[in-house]
Order: sequence, then structure tokens, then C-alpha cells
Amino acid sequence: MRVLERLVLAVEKPLKEAVWDCRMCGQCILHSTGLSCPMRCPKNLRNGPCGGVRANGNCEVFPDTRCVWVEAWEGSRRLPVFKDHIQHLQKPMDWQLQGTSSWINLVNGRDQVTPRGWESGGHR
Ligand code: SF4
Repeated sequence: MRVLERLVLAVEKPLKEAVWDCRMCGQCILHSTGLSCPMRCPKNLRNGPCGGVRANGNCEVFPDTRCVWVEAWEGSRRLPVFKDHIQHLQKPMDWQLQGTSSWINLVNGRDQVTPRGWESGGHR
């Protein structure tokens, strides 16, 4: 790992873990999820909730925990900007970026690269 990446990670990882319970996916979409980290969802869903959200807004898998996506919707309503970004369709996770710096991936555009095989029109 390069020195610059190590330095950035030394700041990003503890900061985002403390504030957002970040799981270091390397392709941050907090601005599209009302600042609720979608990787805390036990199913790692990045395009909205599954069908198992309980009537009280809690998670199907962890009944005592609020659904990440209920929090995302509520959080998105409170944001002064990016309110409509929750409607953006997110591409599949690129798990090769797990553990890398999302800040660096944002700057160099790596987080915008669609994983191989998922390009539009790729269905056969
Ligand atoms: S979306 Fe990824 S980078 Fe952003 S807070 Fe969640 S795990 Fe961390």
C-alpha cells in the first residue's frame, strides 16, 4: 500500500467508523442514503430495503435494530442538499474495493468504475 493511501486511511477509517459505523466498502454513497451507511444492512443492500422490514421499522434479521433504509429515508429528508439522491440507482458493489479509501477512490474515479460483467447491455 502506498504511503499516501496509508495516511488517508489512518484518518478516514477511524473517523467514519466513529461517526457512521462505516464498514470501509471503498465506494461511499452516504450522500445518497441520508448519511445512513448501507453496509450496516445485514444483506448489504444498496438500493433500498428488502421486503422484510418490520411494521415498527426494524430489521428482519436483527429485530431490535432499526432498518438501515428506514434511517436512510428519514435522514435524506433532513439533508439540506442531495435529498433526491436516495432515488439514484446504485451499481453493484465492487468487493475488490473493500478496505480501500473511499476518499481516494472518489478523487481518482475508481468508485465510478462498473464491475466487469455489469456494464449496461451486458445481458445475454
Ligand atoms: S458506504 Fe462504504 S465507505 Fe460509506 S460509510 Fe458505508 S461502508 Fe463506509
